[in-house]
Amino acid sequence: MKCNIVCIPGDGIGPEIVTQAKNVLETVGRVFGHTFEMQDVLMGGASIDAYGEPLTDETIEIAKAADAVLMGSIGGNTATSPWYKLPPQKRPEAGLLRIRKALNLFANLRPAVLYEELAEACPLKAEVRGGGFDIMIMRELTGGLYFGKRETVTENGKRKAIDTLTYSEDEIRRIAIKGFEIARKRKGKVTSVDKANVLDSSRLWRSVVEEVAKSYPDVTLEHMLVDNCAMQLVRDPKQFDVILTENMFGDILSDEASMVTGSIGMLASASLNDTKFGLYEPSHGSAPDIAGKDIANPIATILSASMMLRYTFDLDKEADAIEQAVHDVLKAGYRTADIMSEGFNQIGCKEIGRLICEKIRS
Ligand code: NAD
Repeated sequence: MKCNIVCIPGDGIGPEIVTQAKNVLETVGRVFGHTFEMQDVLMGGASIDAYGEPLTDETIEIAKAADAVLMGSIGGNTATSPWYKLPPQKRPEAGLLRIRKALNLFANLRPAVLYEELAEACPLKAEVRGGGFDIMIMRELTGGLYFGKRETVTENGKRKAIDTLTYSEDEIRRIAIKGFEIARKRKGKVTSVDKANVLDSSRLWRSVVEEVAKSYPDVTLEHMLVDNCAMQLVRDPKQFDVILTENMFGDILSDEASMVTGSIGMLASASLNDTKFGLYEPSHGSAPDIAGKDIANPIATILSASMMLRYTFDLDKEADAIEQAVHDVLKAGYRTADIMSEGFNQIGCKEIGRLICEKIRS
């Protein structure tokens, strides 16, 4: 297979971690007989320095013409970097918002995986976390409360703020279809999370999700109220496979789920549109405090590349090989500084990337 991938190394640790993810993709290409054509473009602070703006029209066109985008992370130290003296629409993060919008990325996927080998990092008790867990949070990204009409008015001398939460059935249907498709590639279960006992938008959400479910008889659907889901994530995370939810609930639940895994350097993410196209990036930021020191953990970016193979290119076997290699390297006792604990072997960003490539080849 020939795959056309645009890479955005970005700022801070971005270039270091993307280099390791590219090495992993090249290794997979050699082992499994694929060609991954990778072109680097600038975004964020690096683009400001080169072109005076965080994302150029040309970069957007290059990204649109690709099959997928692999990103490191963008942004600098918000207290000291000159990028943050610019007006908000010229700052690094403005590039991120613009590219998501330009590529119509409405579905955000955030896996929260607790690796058995890193169980110590999990703040949950041993009997709750068991042998680890593997949850995929699918969050609607472009609708709901964050995009509704809002205003603050003064009535009879008192201020009043209004936010509106709107969802159309088409917006719900397209993310629900994504959720069921993803569940088919996993354990075949969707937990749709809403607040249908109170909100009209949630009642519509529930009924559209049920309509979509009829086309996926092989996937089990359950509904859960958001307050219960927040509790269940810390009471029994192993019960979940895919959590499908709207924008604000997903914002909160995905942060909660990633915190219970305990290791920020391990968490991948993807943002998808209604084709196979996706933007894949680690959940963490550009970590300017450790940039250039060869101590960053590249695994979240490497696992984002593995999500790309699975969800954009349908290369499941190849994605499995990357994930297995990550497990094997952790099992062999290697750790970067962020996931280090006593008795293990601390190594740097380049070395853990090299070991993962070696495992894929073996
Ligand atoms: P951060 O995620 O960059 O860092 C938080 C802490 O985690 C730091 O101590 C950092 O050293 C550590 N860390 C993060 N990733 C790591 C890794 N792979 N390996 C080892 N340690 C890691 O969050 P922050 O410090 O709040 O933000 C720094 C910059 O990143 C800001 O400019 C922010 O706007 C930007 N940011 C970008 C994105 C993105 O590009 N999608 C997301 C979040 C933050």
